[in-house]
Amino acid sequence: MHGFVQLTASDIVSLYRPTPCSLRLYLRAHGVPEAEPSAFDEIIQSLGQVHEQKHLATLGAYEDIGLVGRDQRVSRTLEAIQSCVPLIYQAEFRQKFLINGTPVIVVGRSDFLIFDGDGYIIRDSKLSRNVDENHHEEIALQLQLYGWLFERAVGVPAKGLQVHTGAGDVVDVPYDGGAAALAKLEQVLALKQSTTEPYEPVGWSKCKAGCGYSDRCWSQAEARQDVSLVMDIDQGLARQLHSDGIATPQELLSAFDIQSLSELKRPWGTRQQKVGKKAESILANAEVLVSGKERILAPVVIPAHNNYVMFDLEGMPPYMDDLEKIYLWGVQVYGRNSGKFIGATSGFGTDGDREGWYAFLEAANGIFAEHGDIPFIHWHHYERTHIEMYLKRFGDPSGVADRVLRNVLDLLPITKNSIVLPLPSYSLKVVEEYVGFTRTQDEYGGSWAMAKFILATETEDQAERNSLMAEILTYDEEDLAATWAVFEWLRNK
Ligand code: SF4
Repeated sequence: MHGFVQLTASDIVSLYRPTPCSLRLYLRAHGVPEAEPSAFDEIIQSLGQVHEQKHLATLGAYEDIGLVGRDQRVSRTLEAIQSCVPLIYQAEFRQKFLINGTPVIVVGRSDFLIFDGDGYIIRDSKLSRNVDENHHEEIALQLQLYGWLFERAVGVPAKGLQVHTGAGDVVDVPYDGGAAALAKLEQVLALKQSTTEPYEPVGWSKCKAGCGYSDRCWSQAEARQDVSLVMDIDQGLARQLHSDGIATPQELLSAFDIQSLSELKRPWGTRQQKVGKKAESILANAEVLVSGKERILAPVVIPAHNNYVMFDLEGMPPYMDDLEKIYLWGVQVYGRNSGKFIGATSGFGTDGDREGWYAFLEAANGIFAEHGDIPFIHWHHYERTHIEMYLKRFGDPSGVADRVLRNVLDLLPITKNSIVLPLPSYSLKVVEEYVGFTRTQDEYGGSWAMAKFILATETEDQAERNSLMAEILTYDEEDLAATWAVFEWLRNK
């Protein structure tokens, strides 16, 4: 529509997914190319479609607005509403109006309009399991926008706004007359119209969690030596420093000592909070980043043993009707009497989750029988928390899991407490590269492995399933080898 800026519910989602960032929307709106969706993204998208279709099948006969020509969808939606069609699928609305004097056209396409006696309920199907005031604000905003579009087009508000969640629940979203969604559209419009790129700090978990601009933003941040590259600098602090004119780690070191940095206030949620105790580690991290040289803080404390078990789990977050699940329990003894890699995998039948857990307990039991109490070395707290979770889920009649819990040793805090590294993150993948470990696989990672596992779950072809599982097992085996490489490197410090 010439002269009108088009705004959609997807624009709002771009601000939040995969992680909150306004730069993503600016870059998309300005045609900056982004990376292709990963195999994991594509699988999640198709799971979302399956979830929506399954729900549609439970709702009875429907009219599919997506089947009519693009130009007639809005008018056909209104006709269907006026005729009280019991279920309207892919209803489409368009409204033209002004935002701060700029003509805009807002387009929204809701999954389901469900006639409920004396009005319509607007419902969208989502894979997210928790949708409330603390989770997935973008979903509530999307529904608010549909609610506002409906009210403008039909003349009366919808009877209700609802989300069909990934857990299969139907959750009500209170309608605020569209106020929050319209305020968000103002932000969307400002970003679309802006001629200068907004400042956004980079962050390892923010940018490396599936954002298509990760390589672009990260390399630009490195080229300009952005202060947000310093580990332990959170997003609020990076923004505060940037607005105070402190752009680089070098400028940070010149402007602050521990005392003054700890007193600096930065945005923290809806409040302002002092940097506090983090100041010391931030400045140490900035120093090693500038010098490029690691700094030893304290002796490395690792209990002396002849052998150690490297231990790593691969899991799926809860999705659709499934609970959170560990699908691979990887262990391997390294040291004087190294052993073979054991990857205990969950089965694909209804009892698969339990089978994986008991296969792991059996493997751990065998290791204890051969080596006695032996440290189970892992990276970060995921392994400990998930053993505790499975203990509650399936029990541990032989007491092996308790014994593993008594012997787990998290290498990440040991590393952080003893050495400062000139790196943007203490993720195992980053540290292993720093110590010179190389992998045989071109593609790997937690999301990659999850995508492979979902494909293995869905295929009926046994040969394909075996080949997918073999790739995941190689990845996990190399994770253990990487943990051992970091362990050895650290021990030699
Ligand atoms: S890479 Fe990071 S900073 Fe860049 S758009 Fe994505 S989330 Fe935002």
